[in-house]
Amino acid sequence: MISDDVSVARPCDDCGAELTGELTQRIVGDRLHWADECHCPHCGAAWVTCGWDDTPAEIREALIAQRGLARLTVEGTPTHSRVALLKVFREAGASLPEATAAAQRAVTTGIEGTRTELALLAQRLQTKNISAIIDGDCC
Ligand SMILES: [Zn+2]
Repeated sequence: MISDDVSVARPCDDCGAELTGELTQRIVGDRLHWADECHCPHCGAAWVTCGWDDTPAEIREALIAQRGLARLTVEGTPTHSRVALLKVFREAGASLPEATAAAQRAVTTGIEGTRTELALLAQRLQTKNISAIIDGDCC
């Protein structure tokens, strides 16, 4: 299973002791699931925040800070697949101008994101028979 998973040190909301939080992004079916889980070894407080699709900026930034950005580029797109490409972004919730810009980036400079976000995008592209490559699979 594709997932990104990093540990971050942060103070406990309850007692202020330092604890380790686990931030994750993973693909479940055709969606992105993110989670922020903490357990304080000092006072026993534990909490989990999680959700679907758009990852909160704070979690995304922490993942990128430790794992780096990856880049997805669509391989040789015949004109007829441009529509399919647009559709993938539209179905993911982008507005038409956003989808057009994203589709343009996908075939030129590439789209940046976490490896999990891009793996999900590649998976969606594959269902439309569009192949993509992801760079930055370093570790
Ligand atoms: Zn605590």
